[in-house]
Amino acid sequence: MPRTVAIDGPAGAGKSTIGALVAERLGYLFLDTGAMYRAVALAAMRRGIDPDDGEKLSDLVTTVRIMIGPPTKQDGRAYTVLLDGNDVTWEIRSADIDRIVSQVARVSGVRDAMVEQQRSLAGTGRVVMVGRDIGTVVLPDAERKIFLTASAGERARRREEELASRGERRPRHELLHEILRRDQLDTERPVSPLRAADDAIVVPTDGLAVREALDKVLAAIQRA
Ligand code: C5P
Repeated sequence: MPRTVAIDGPAGAGKSTIGALVAERLGYLFLDTGAMYRAVALAAMRRGIDPDDGEKLSDLVTTVRIMIGPPTKQDGRAYTVLLDGNDVTWEIRSADIDRIVSQVARVSGVRDAMVEQQRSLAGTGRVVMVGRDIGTVVLPDAERKIFLTASAGERARRREEELASRGERRPRHELLHEILRRDQLDTERPVSPLRAADDAIVVPTDGLAVREALDKVLAAIQRA
């Protein structure tokens, strides 16, 4: 079994859901790096920092403490996110954060700090790490790399369902617009753009139930 599994892909492709299940199945640590960029975005929003102000954001990441650990509550969370010691697990999932997170994640000062922390959390392995640049930049030597894809329409539908399960309703066309905007920012940024690593196995998940997508990913991970 590979000791380090990198899972990348665009928003809504199922990385977090599948990644958490893969980690559970293998008994590995699960690290959702998107949550870290979201926590930085929340810290910026609280301090009134413009998401395009790279200098202020680069300073900000040297002062905030972001920690991701096992779930501390049984309310459907896969992990707990602490920002300066406070539980922000659900707050980082808000529509406001969705809107600004990809701008914040474009800043190289922000990325450098996050990548350093991600590498140290990965330690010596037994980890499933999900994000946008894990196979290309964070863990280029990961023993297995998966790139999850799904059409934008399907991803918007999943996001709508996920929000509805938490009692939030947002029109699908709005979610689709936001997903396309984030795709564009994530793929076109100069630093660590979203792309599949050359040695990644691409797993399309359109029309697949979670269980089916999980089986495909596990099969790809186990492939010699
Ligand atoms: O995965 P999630 O949608 O929670 O990630 C939020 C945002 O964080 C992404 O749209 C992307 O801009 C950024 N991100 C990133 N690199 C990662 C993980 C997330 O740039 N490794």
